[in-house]
Amino acid sequence: MNIILLGPPGAGKGTQAKLIEDRHGMKQLSTGDMLRAAVAAGTETGNKAKAIMDRGELVSDAIVVGIIADRLDAPDVKKGFILDGFPRNTAQAEALDAMLSGKGLKLDAVVEMKVDDEALVERITGRYTCAKCGKGYHDRFQKPEKSGVCDVCGSTDFTRRADDNEKTVRDRLAVYNKQTAPLVAYYGGRGTLKSIDGMADISEVTRQIEDVLKGV
Ligand code: ADP
Ligand code: AMP
Repeated sequence: MNIILLGPPGAGKGTQAKLIEDRHGMKQLSTGDMLRAAVAAGTETGNKAKAIMDRGELVSDAIVVGIIADRLDAPDVKKGFILDGFPRNTAQAEALDAMLSGKGLKLDAVVEMKVDDEALVERITGRYTCAKCGKGYHDRFQKPEKSGVCDVCGSTDFTRRADDNEKTVRDRLAVYNKQTAPLVAYYGGRGTLKSIDGMADISEVTRQIEDVLKGV
């Protein structure tokens, strides 16, 4: 199965993508994670993207479309993919359509996760991840069982994203509303769009996504 999780920054796309990976064996393809890895590795792409990401703007379509085109051919995507953070504008959605039809693949569902802006700001400013295994947490909504220790790998080392501050979050939400929100109409027009209530708690959002996947 091939799906897109569509929603603003902080909607819970990464959290749910990892849960879907565990349950269904599909692969999460997060352009944000891939770009952060390129920044950390100091590649040419990473060096180009860093300042743009710090400002909360979109990096060029050519870069992200190229990244996704490479990943769709990898063997770990055979059971399907979960696009997280891509596409982010109409040009990227059109490029994705062309890529998928060229590879004989199709999208089974586009799941729109709806969350209010103020909740998004609270989610993003409280977000942190395990520096060793990447497990995501939240200061209020998703604490490790033992304070300061990762549930998955036991590490005590955690990181916060440079762009997860209130000022950049508001800029990222403005970019989402202007450039990415039109994709709701783009996919709505083709019948692949399913909207869910992303304001619910994590397990309830998972249940709603499972309902969508069952109907595919
Ligand atoms: P996205 O990938 O869409 O940017 P994340 O999955 O990283 O969003 O979630 C943002 C933050 O909100 C994380 O710290 C996560 O633990 C928390 N979170 C995710 N889903 C929910 C939810 N349904 N309710 C409350 N907090 C959530
Ligand atoms: P995310 O991890 O999805 O919140 O993305 C973090 C940042 O990476 C964004 O604010 C953008 O600067 C950049 N980025 C991620 N995905 C894309 C994309 N599909 N198109 C353009 N920029 C992206």
